[in-house]
Amino acid sequence: MKKKTKVTVIGSVAFDSVETARGSRANVLGGSAVFAALSASFFAPVNLISVVGTDFPEKYFQMFKKRGVDTSGLTRKKGKTFRWKGKYDSDLTHRKTLSVDLNVFNGFRPEIPANVSSEDYLLLANIDPELQDWIFKRIKPAGLVACDTMDLWINTKRRALLKLLKKVDLLLLNDEEARQLSGEFNLLKAAQSIASRGVRTVVIKKGEHGALLFSKGLSFIVPPFLIHDVKDPTGAGDTFAGGMIGYLSGKRTITDRDLRSALVYGSILASYAVEKFSVDGLVDISRRDIDGRYKCLGRITRF
Ligand code: AMP
Repeated sequence: MKKKTKVTVIGSVAFDSVETARGSRANVLGGSAVFAALSASFFAPVNLISVVGTDFPEKYFQMFKKRGVDTSGLTRKKGKTFRWKGKYDSDLTHRKTLSVDLNVFNGFRPEIPANVSSEDYLLLANIDPELQDWIFKRIKPAGLVACDTMDLWINTKRRALLKLLKKVDLLLLNDEEARQLSGEFNLLKAAQSIASRGVRTVVIKKGEHGALLFSKGLSFIVPPFLIHDVKDPTGAGDTFAGGMIGYLSGKRTITDRDLRSALVYGSILASYAVEKFSVDGLVDISRRDIDGRYKCLGRITRF
């Protein structure tokens, strides 16, 4: 029997302060690696590599443990945990970053814990691409490598990001970021241009309009799983990425069909994340709930 492939996730662990049309929360658990790791944990054992400050409560370590997320790679450093503050427009789609405090992330270069293997699938969740590359070089991954990024890094660390993309199998970004990175407005052309940088599969997320998957051309479109009440879109992209790589880690070889199913799982996981603030939508669900929505989406999109 095939040994279960683990997923190693690196990215930010944060305290987020968020304001949406449905309410606000201050200093709640967030960060790209947190959403991604929790999402992947429904499919595979997960190793989390990141850093927190002395203000990070023990209860979250317990929560990760409960969800099968190994925190040996989560360093506790003297100082404050990374903080991000954002405010969403009334459409809950566009947001403004009000502040970012790197705190313990300043100059952070983690040790790779012994339990992380080059055989694990690697998710470089959104963080400085120089740090993503640093981790990549130390782990020397032999399995699938996925990468998520954001407008900030496309603007400020474009060179480092483009260098990293040569080594990435699966890149996830939203439509605005795809246009920004490629300089192409048309998404087919944008995906083509990004793929020419060396990425095998490009996923373009379109928020409330679903996502597109390009693997040598457009091969799949997934609609969002519609829910009645979106409270907080923070972390939807990271959750999407975690769901995709988590699902793919269970596959011996990755077929086109697996990529399609992974895109649907990414969309389903994201639907849970946006239903509640912080990570609350991800902690009280089970694989059974997720599979229920997966089947439902299949039923309502068949034609
Ligand atoms: P998303 O909504 O998927 O783009 O992800 C939002 C998460 O990314 C929040 O929980 C933030 O803590 C985190 N985040 C915001 N800005 C940064 C940044 N510059 N580097 C790393 N993580 C960030």
